[in-house]
Amino acid sequence: MRKHIFNAGPSVLPVEVLKEASEAVVDLNKSGQSILEISHRGNTFESVVAEAKSLVKELLGLGDDYEVLFLQGGASLQFCMMPMNFLKETETAAYVDTGTWSSKAIKEAKLFGKVEVIGSSKAQNFNHIPKGFAIPKTAKYFHITTNNTIYGTQFQIYPDSPVLYFADMSSDFLSKEIPASKFDLIYAGAQKNVGPAGVTLVILKKELLKKIDKTLPSMLDYRVFAENDSLYNTPCVFGIYVCLLTLRWLKRKGGLKAIGKINDEKAARLYAMFDKHPLYVGHSEKEDRSKMNVVFMLSKPDLENAFVEACSKAGIVGIKGHRSVGGFRASIYNALPMESVEVLCGVMEEFAFRYDGAAVGSGSRQ
Ligand code: PMP
Repeated sequence: MRKHIFNAGPSVLPVEVLKEASEAVVDLNKSGQSILEISHRGNTFESVVAEAKSLVKELLGLGDDYEVLFLQGGASLQFCMMPMNFLKETETAAYVDTGTWSSKAIKEAKLFGKVEVIGSSKAQNFNHIPKGFAIPKTAKYFHITTNNTIYGTQFQIYPDSPVLYFADMSSDFLSKEIPASKFDLIYAGAQKNVGPAGVTLVILKKELLKKIDKTLPSMLDYRVFAENDSLYNTPCVFGIYVCLLTLRWLKRKGGLKAIGKINDEKAARLYAMFDKHPLYVGHSEKEDRSKMNVVFMLSKPDLENAFVEACSKAGIVGIKGHRSVGGFRASIYNALPMESVEVLCGVMEEFAFRYDGAAVGSGSRQ
């Protein structure tokens, strides 16, 4: 029986995508070849890349002024590739520090130029999104992590930027409608909402490519990948193919508006548990709660092992929190069905009644 997969990434994929992908591993579209065996230079794969690119733009409502790249190295490579392309030693980039991944992005950017951290929630163990910060007009670019996978916080509104606007959207990419054209560059590892691990998507304004005036190693130069349609070297062929299948699935589901509504409902269902049972204490402040990663502790930490066991009995996997926060994390990405959320809520409900009586109150740490 299929598990209820709450993994933070790699994570759940739509069952129909898994079936299609597994058929293609044996025989791709009755071609007599596996997707694992075809050349990345042939028409077949070129059309896979072209369709995947066009679906990303269509879903985000972006036009021909944007380029979509399929790269490798994870979002972590983008932490350095982005400043390597756009930041010089004498220039300053403005970053908001909202957790582990932003902190890593900041560390890498410092290798290429100056970094001003204009907002941080580090002192409160990243339990909220900093607000009211000023973005210096002199900055080369402004960078945010839109969803903080480990801490369960998410930018609900993207602040306006007077300078180039870059975002790590790894854990909420294509999960809801967004004003995508507000951004000059978006990057995301595929392994949460778009496909398997091994593919990183970079969406950037074509105009931006003209602003790169450095000599760079080819494999770290956006211009090289743009000129070669992501096929400068051998890409992650299978990974990109599974991304295409997932993008088609997302379009069939009704696109970002439809998936955003479902994701809102899933998140609301889970967060309602915190308000009902004081046993569950959310990490994030209410207004910044993530719709992708629901992070919570037990008010009686000695019950943690029993809770893990109750989840496991119900077929739930991937619920343990990241070591830097502890507790639990339910990652409820696009492909996680409402049914899995219902199963988790059922376990939470039953567990709270068994170990904490029928206490009702606010379980949110505000
Ligand atoms: N940014 C965010 C928001 C993430 O959640 C992650 C991975 N969980 C990363 C960056 C790093 O991604 P990768 O492992 O693909 O390098």
